[in-house]
This record gives sequence, structure tokens and C-alpha cells, in this order.
Amino acid sequence: MKNQSKKEKITEFLLDIMFPKKCVSCGKFDTLFCEKCRAKILFLKTQNCPFCNKITVRGRVCPSCKSSLTGVYVAAHYEEPLKTAIHTYKYEFIKALKDDLADIAWPYLNDFPQKTILTCVPSNPKRLAWRGYNQAEELARILAAHTGMRFYPNLLKRTKYKTPQTQLNRKERFKNVEKSFAAGKKMDLSGAQVMIVDDLVTSGATLDACAHEIRKMGATRVWGFVLARNK
Ligand SMILES: [Zn+2]
Ligand SMILES: [Zn+2]
Repeated sequence: MKNQSKKEKITEFLLDIMFPKKCVSCGKFDTLFCEKCRAKILFLKTQNCPFCNKITVRGRVCPSCKSSLTGVYVAAHYEEPLKTAIHTYKYEFIKALKDDLADIAWPYLNDFPQKTILTCVPSNPKRLAWRGYNQAEELARILAAHTGMRFYPNLLKRTKYKTPQTQLNRKERFKNVEKSFAAGKKMDLSGAQVMIVDDLVTSGATLDACAHEIRKMGATRVWGFVLARNK
């Protein structure tokens, strides 16, 4: 693996001894997400408006759904075996899964110009301390390396701690994330196309709130790019 620190290598070595690598879905040894399972991922055949599900080009927001987002590009359905892989990456701290997950997604970025700027949904500090990494940032970093797109990890920051979105209904989700983000550093993004990377999209509220802040920096188009749609 590239760009691994000595500490990461030692950690991985020890983890391999204590917990031999096996596929998160079928249990096959020596791989985290085996090819057979990867072949079962249900990739999206069409892209849709993230809010009303109407079929649109590249997942553009349709004219009747107003949003700061230009659109949300989704790679796959949130179904097995991808569901378990994302869940394990996010909640069971199997950080090494980031490579397998990014592998699934990066070819889709070829649909966008290379001058697109990648960023990620910022983690809330409590989550970051607990998990030790921002799962969206790790993915975005690999996607940037594969595509040659620029990656600005700190475009945004969280401004307040909020209730985890998973506990709320659709309407509450939009209310909850309002004003949850702000510019991480002062940047002029005039005329730029920005893509916010995250693992999942559900209501689209988080991505919408992020896009709102990025527009204020001058970006002309703000896309979301996610591994899967959870609905
Ligand atoms: Zn497998
Ligand atoms: Zn729509």
C-alpha cells in the first residue's frame, strides 16, 4: 500500500496477526472485500434527482427541486454486500476497507472534468475522536490520487454539534443541518466546480448544507459524490 506511515504499517501487521484478513461479506481469507462479493454490488443503471428521484443526467437536481447542489452522483444501491462493507468501514473501524471502497467508485469520476475540486463532508469532532478518522476524507483522498483532481480537505468545518442524522426523519434532517457548516478557511472558488465526497446519501440534507457554504465561496457548480444511496 502506498503512503503508509511506519506506525500504520506496524498497526496493520499486528492487526493481521490478531484478526486475520477476511472478506467482510463472505468470510474468505486474505482479502477484505473479495472479488466474488464485489461482483454482486448493484450499481445504479440510471442517475436520479437526489430529492424526488426523477431520472436526470448524472443525478442533477431537477428544475422543480431547489437546492444549492447541482446534483448528486451515486455509484451503487445501498444493498448487500456493499451495505455491510460500508457499515464495517464506518462503524467497526476497518479503515483499510477505504481502498476497496474507493476502487469501486473512482472510475465514475471520469464523467467529470479533471479540474473539479474534491472535498469531503467534515466529521464532527466527537465522532472524529471516537473513530480516529473521517471516513469521507479518507475516501476523497484516494479518489483524488486516482483521478488527479485537486483535493481540499478543509474547505468546510462543523460549526455546531448536532443530533446524528440517523435518528431523525426527512424534515428534521434538513432542519438539523441548517447552519451546521461554515467555511474552513477563506478561499476564492470563483467559477470552480466542486465535488463533495461522502460514503452515503439519505435525504441529501447534509450535502445540501455543505453545498450552500461552498456556493458562498463562489463555486458555480457543487456536486455530491457518494458510494451509495440509502433509500
Ligand atoms: Zn466475499
Ligand atoms: Zn427533483
